[in-house]
Amino acid sequence: MRRFELTVLGCGAAAPTPYFLTTSQFVNIHDHLILIDCGEGCQLTLRKKRLKFQRIKFILISHMHADHVLGLPGLLASMNLLGRKTAIEVYGPGELESFVRMVWHKTGTHIEFEVNFNIVDSEKPSELIRTDSYVITSFPTKHRIETTGFRIEELPGAWNLKPYAKKKFALTFHEIIQLKKGEKVSREDGVEVDPKNWCNAPKPSRSYVFAADTAFTPKVVDASKGATLLYHEATFMLSEKDIAKKTMHSTASDAGKVAKEAGVSKLMIGHFSNRYKDLSSLLEEAQGVFENTCLAVEGDLISIE
Ligand SMILES: [Zn+2]
Repeated sequence: MRRFELTVLGCGAAAPTPYFLTTSQFVNIHDHLILIDCGEGCQLTLRKKRLKFQRIKFILISHMHADHVLGLPGLLASMNLLGRKTAIEVYGPGELESFVRMVWHKTGTHIEFEVNFNIVDSEKPSELIRTDSYVITSFPTKHRIETTGFRIEELPGAWNLKPYAKKKFALTFHEIIQLKKGEKVSREDGVEVDPKNWCNAPKPSRSYVFAADTAFTPKVVDASKGATLLYHEATFMLSEKDIAKKTMHSTASDAGKVAKEAGVSKLMIGHFSNRYKDLSSLLEEAQGVFENTCLAVEGDLISIE
């Protein structure tokens, strides 16, 4: 199976503590490397975990709150110092580019590789990136400022012809292409070749959804439908629901509810308030609503399957 996995670089909310850094995740899909959010100090975890950060192709930034962006000017500056020459594509809010360039300008940092900033529409779902094997879309969440989540989804693979099918039907090149797409071949003489009988079906496509920061919203439920893995913030426990509401964050129960309503296979919760030193209560609360839940523990590698 092709690689599709993520490493949690930071799982805390608001500010780095001795226990957690703030939000950042490193995704490997089919050996393309993607960074989602870039909290302060994320480059330290990238280096400690020996992740190949010079090979990051895309950076996706959910929103402009400090705990999701403060690491970005520094990470790109380090890439430059270490000799990066390859261009990088950054996707995020409109203010992101001026923020990063202002930091570089005021600190006399000259970046010698191409950094392209692409503005993400925070009003409606949008396709950001499409490659031969996966697609990345953004979708709005519900937070104090404009915020988007991201969905990374494998495109359906090709149907594989069984070895004897080609000879048996003397398939033409065009017919083979049709079957590989999973389409039935119907000839004028009435012969039909159904891929369900003569091909091996591709493996089901896997998907990863990142939803942070956000209060509970059906918009995230819609965007997460059927995902293999959903990362949903769970900043607070239900006992702190008033603060969650005021700050437009979620409780662990909210995260469980989204996972349940969206019918995802697995839920991972994170963005924990630093009031919680022991995360087991947050986990238990989410599992009470959606059993297949895990914690986004800093440094952990999670395979999406
Ligand atoms: Zn925020």
